[in-house]
Amino acid sequence: MSYSSEARQKAEMMIRAAEALMFRRRRLCSLAPRCPHCRVTNVQLVESAPLARWKCRACKHRWTYEPIIMEKRNAISSDRQDVVLD
Ligand SMILES: [Zn+2]
Repeated sequence: MSYSSEARQKAEMMIRAAEALMFRRRRLCSLAPRCPHCRVTNVQLVESAPLARWKCRACKHRWTYEPIIMEKRNAISSDRQDVVLD
């Protein structure tokens, strides 16, 4: 069985997108914040895109916290800031 180059390109793009999302989730989890409400570290990532949403397992507070994430491939920007929205 052979794939057309277009179909293969599409499949490779999907795999790269899935890998990028997995990488992002892993990075987010390794940068998990404290709960801004009760300060515990027992928090859960509930959404990873477009912005990271977190939920505190202790007080159930939910908030958006987008840490700086180094891109997988070389692009490291120094002007991005952590974004915290309650
Ligand atoms: Zn909390």
